Amino acid sequence: MSVFKNYIAGEWVAGTDANRNVNPSNLDDVVGEYARADKTQAERAIAAARAAFPAWSQGGIQARADMLEAIGNEILARKEELGRLLSREEGKTLPEGIGEAARAGQIFKFFAGEVLRPEGEKLPSIRPGVDVEITREAVGVVGIITPWNFPIAIPAWKIAPALAYGNCVVFKPADLVPGSAWALSDIVARAGLPAGVFNLVMGRGSLVGEAILNSPAVDAISFTGSVETGKRIAAAAVSRLARVQMEMGGKNPLVVLDDADLPTAINCAVQGAFYSTGQRCTASSRFIVTEGIHDRFVKAVEEKLKTLKVDDALKQGTDIGPVVDQSQLDQDLSYIDIGVKEGARLAIGGERLNRETRGYFLAPALLTETRNDMRVNREEIFGPVATVIRVKSYDEALAVANDTAFGLSSGICTASLKHATHFKRNTQAGMAMVNLPTAGVDYHVPFGGRKGSSYGPREQGSYAREFYTIVKTAYTMPV
Ligand code: NAD
Repeated sequence: MSVFKNYIAGEWVAGTDANRNVNPSNLDDVVGEYARADKTQAERAIAAARAAFPAWSQGGIQARADMLEAIGNEILARKEELGRLLSREEGKTLPEGIGEAARAGQIFKFFAGEVLRPEGEKLPSIRPGVDVEITREAVGVVGIITPWNFPIAIPAWKIAPALAYGNCVVFKPADLVPGSAWALSDIVARAGLPAGVFNLVMGRGSLVGEAILNSPAVDAISFTGSVETGKRIAAAAVSRLARVQMEMGGKNPLVVLDDADLPTAINCAVQGAFYSTGQRCTASSRFIVTEGIHDRFVKAVEEKLKTLKVDDALKQGTDIGPVVDQSQLDQDLSYIDIGVKEGARLAIGGERLNRETRGYFLAPALLTETRNDMRVNREEIFGPVATVIRVKSYDEALAVANDTAFGLSSGICTASLKHATHFKRNTQAGMAMVNLPTAGVDYHVPFGGRKGSSYGPREQGSYAREFYTIVKTAYTMPV
């Protein structure tokens, strides 16, 4: 089997080690062998990006827009094939995989348009005769470090704006799921960018990730991943005054009030918590339900979960694919156990499932009769496991929803305009959803959270420029 290589300074380069990428739906299926870079190779990639930066950042914007457009078009034209690869290596279902690949293409096309919408202002000075210009410039070399759960969309929503605003990129994808990242990099590498503008360095966080973090030649780091890693990234970046943007975990609440439309609430709950195997940072993990609807809601969620097909991600008709790997599966099972020991009732699911192929299949689990101070309601589980917390009123629901260290997404199901409006104003989350699942966002508007979920400026849409550009104020006295 040939090894997929890294892309450094415009060339495909063998690694110092290789990584076996295995299909979580079928452990006998090896997706491919992917090169792992070491510290020296990461430093070469950073040096190449540094060298390419002056010409790229000052280069013509039409050519840059055309390149991003071409990347977006190729991704969209190949979305079925890329989606299949994604589902095969990560385990989300084929329609979800194709949807994510298409999203990556749309993001590149959006930022192709942004290249041609540069911002600037020219103002009178308070000093007569002087002109003031406010412009945005590229930041420099951006290190992009991504997680395994959205292996093409998250890289796309960082790489596309980085390049669009004139930065050079050193991209380190998650070690667990490098296939989609490699396929995306192959498309970028063929789009006509000058050597060094974009570099792919697959490998371990402790080697390649740390090399990016600690290099004085990397001006900015955009990271998505766990809180634990995020804290290391922030400490390293701040200690050398590098710009940093981080998206991390969630413990997203879905409030369901007595007046909610039950089918809508069930759809929001099941879609939001269990699809993509619950492995979404925006997944609903705490259902906070008022007394009058509680029993009907729990029963209806149970009934719906019984109808869902958990199987091979690539099989037609599969609703929920496998958990990504053994260690995530162990974590999911362990949290279910912790919940039960703390007094929760395992209403349904939570058992390992055997299918035709050897894979990490887990029946979606619902823990009821939980309290918000239980570990299953405090810590991110990151699997197809959700809890129900019974509350007496809207006010109590809002207080419980906000009583968390996280603040990425939050939702409410209600027919009351008063409660929906109050919730949008008072939820301590970056994103608020009314009668919609907590997961599922648009790409032309800002994405991000509060508290322990995010740090630094927002991602996506035109708000991405806050991170990927730096403002300059220039004064001119014409003499
Ligand atoms: P992770 O933190 O283990 O890894 C993320 C990336 O950081 C990987 O590329 C990893 O190799 C790298 N890394 C690890 N140690 C490093 C180090 N010392 N220095 C530099 N880089 C290092 O996260 P994961 O398990 O891949 O992803 C799951 C997590 O991501 C969950 O917590 C989830 O909530 C979060 N996530 C958040 C969002 C969001 O937008 N808020 C989106 C998706 C996933």
